[in-house]
Amino acid sequence: MLILIPQDAATVLRASGAWGRLSLRISQPDDLAVVGGISEGGGSIISVDPPPPAPRLLASCDSRPTGYWYRAKNELHALWHLLRVRRDTAMKLDVFKDAVPNGFKTPGDGGYVALTHAPGVKDAYPESRLPDLVAWHVTRAGFQPLEMSAEPETTGIRQLDHHWPVQELQNAHIMLVGAGSIGSATAHALAGYGIGHLTLVDPDRLQWHNLVRHTSSRRHIGRTKVTALAEELTQLRPDTAVTPLALDVIEHADQIRALLMDTHLVVCTADGVAARRVTGHLARRADRTAILACVLQYGALGEIIRLHPWRRHGCLTCRRHSLTEAGSLDPEPALDAGYGTGTRHRPMTAVGPDLHLVAHLAAKTAAATLLEHAGHPDQRLPGEHALIGLRRQPGWAAPFDLGRTAELRWLPATPPRPGCPTCEAP
Ligand SMILES: [Zn+2]
Repeated sequence: MLILIPQDAATVLRASGAWGRLSLRISQPDDLAVVGGISEGGGSIISVDPPPPAPRLLASCDSRPTGYWYRAKNELHALWHLLRVRRDTAMKLDVFKDAVPNGFKTPGDGGYVALTHAPGVKDAYPESRLPDLVAWHVTRAGFQPLEMSAEPETTGIRQLDHHWPVQELQNAHIMLVGAGSIGSATAHALAGYGIGHLTLVDPDRLQWHNLVRHTSSRRHIGRTKVTALAEELTQLRPDTAVTPLALDVIEHADQIRALLMDTHLVVCTADGVAARRVTGHLARRADRTAILACVLQYGALGEIIRLHPWRRHGCLTCRRHSLTEAGSLDPEPALDAGYGTGTRHRPMTAVGPDLHLVAHLAAKTAAATLLEHAGHPDQRLPGEHALIGLRRQPGWAAPFDLGRTAELRWLPATPPRPGCPTCEAP
């Protein structure tokens, strides 16, 4: 059985005296128990569950007085470690009794679960990483270690402090335009990187046919995609604050323009040329970098374009024109068709994981852009325009002629064209 010790329970145990009783919620099918109440000595058991509305572990299982906790000698925890390695070894009860100087209870039929707290174990065995709280099954015949998991003091993105620039990304605010299949996965990935604030913009509602590609589940059908995503991310990644806005980037361009002033970066995963161009235009006017992510040719090719509001960097339209002038093709018109609406000649459309692969590359591009700007040169990207092969398209013109699935190609920026209404200042 695995015994879970949530942080509040661990705090109470560490601050309490010599011994007491425990109540556990036990799930027999899962072979799992969670500490829900603790007493000091023979006093009454006090709940250590988080106050509502916080969710509690194994909430559907009743709390039962089922064990004891003891202050223990450090050697007992070294023994716990040793006995776990040597499986199925039971020790004589006297050894346990000697290691818990106060309050020991003789087990009845069936025995009980015991937790022991050895406050000095880290000092006594500095290299061993022995836990100061461990679990046991104590019976008349002897005692055996139980698996236990104590919630650490630090959870969430702060766990990555010293390994990842947590603070820079916690201070960052990204606007994500489009909360569909690519957008939903991008939102999850951005939260995974530890972006502190996400504003989600999309007027659409989640429908049955979206489920095959979207990260949201069936229970959100009919709600706006941004509401569903905000709720899911708040549960899954509480370090990221999410603002859901059921707005259309074209129709509500004025509102978006104002909101961009509080945003560091825009990621656009909306499909449709107009929404992408408007997002790029608004971002440039607000002096913000925009990252556009989409799939082309019915999901054969993933594309990420980073548009810096810089003098030598052209907008989406300028980039497309440059490519066309260089003898390439303009793949954008295909974006106006919805996913899954391919004709009989093109039955294979983008599948969820391919779209999510593009989404994760978009989120990586966003995080790297912010970090390079914050002074992390190791986050510099190889270019401004990434193409990723999802299925080979041998007939396509360069630079879209990726020869292999999962091939990744980075291209440089292209300059603005004279007279471009987006690139030239108003
Ligand atoms: Zn332009």
